[in-house]
Amino acid sequence: MRIDYEPSFVEQTIFYAGRQDPKLEAELHQATDRLYGLTNPNEREESFQAVYGGLFRRLGYDGVITRLLAERPLIESRVQRCIVRQAVSAKKEAAELFVRDTGDPAQPQQRSLFIHAYHESLLNPELFRRRMRREFLHVADMLDESFGYRKDTLLGNQPRRNLIRDRYRVLWDIYVEGRLSREGHADDKMMLLLSCQFEKVFLKYSACLFPSSFERVYRADKLNHDQLLEWATSPDLLFERDPAAPRGTAPGPGETCPACNFSTFDWFAADEYTPALIAVVQKAFPKWQPRQGICRQCADIYAGTGRFSDRQPATDLTEVDS
Ligand SMILES: [Zn+2]
Repeated sequence: MRIDYEPSFVEQTIFYAGRQDPKLEAELHQATDRLYGLTNPNEREESFQAVYGGLFRRLGYDGVITRLLAERPLIESRVQRCIVRQAVSAKKEAAELFVRDTGDPAQPQQRSLFIHAYHESLLNPELFRRRMRREFLHVADMLDESFGYRKDTLLGNQPRRNLIRDRYRVLWDIYVEGRLSREGHADDKMMLLLSCQFEKVFLKYSACLFPSSFERVYRADKLNHDQLLEWATSPDLLFERDPAAPRGTAPGPGETCPACNFSTFDWFAADEYTPALIAVVQKAFPKWQPRQGICRQCADIYAGTGRFSDRQPATDLTEVDS
């Protein structure tokens, strides 16, 4: 795979390196001062680039990305070209895969990897390496046929689609982080961040199930796109394994109410169920269980239209909800 560095990125990196090292700065001045006298602008530009490029390689800055990419042979074998560009800040560092159909049967797709790197990062690359290892493992997944990545058309209204996307992203990040940790690149800070994000996107699920469900994704050696998307769409399948799951847990925000089939953010709270309400809902939907939840609007309709009059306090939910 060919790796091209944008000239402005190389120049910025060398300028920055020169500011940290007076000897290098002096050398840079010596090499470039005479170039200002060149009258042909193209020749001048090329000469500057040759000086910066030479120093960039001599100082070994190109090796940072080369070695990181070598950790993912799938990227090296499937991607034809890699372009390194300047990122506006270290926080914006990322890798993006672009796939273009060529119409050529010999090589039907042209794949390019764009790496957005901040010029200061190559001098002290510890954080950069961590970021890029994550980015490259995501890219490797996308290139791996057994992962089966594709752009799906999600169903439901906009808030629901956003929620599924957020969940998918968090689950994929956890899957990536777990494999990186087993490769010897564990990162406690990232783990903490991911577990916060995990709780946020599965807000309505019981806190006592978070650790085991998180571990299930983190410890997995082989997951794929369909599995991650299924968990993002139907979190019950991710949270189901624990037999200690509390009864009557409402589904997550934006999930579909089983009674009206509308996406809802306002679930009837589990502790508000009365046996009578459960009975009247089950009369309309014989297979319905309180743990599937019901939106507040539906619950109010069932509770309020006088379809049942023997409303009782919620004394014995467990008997009904089995
Ligand atoms: Zn409803």
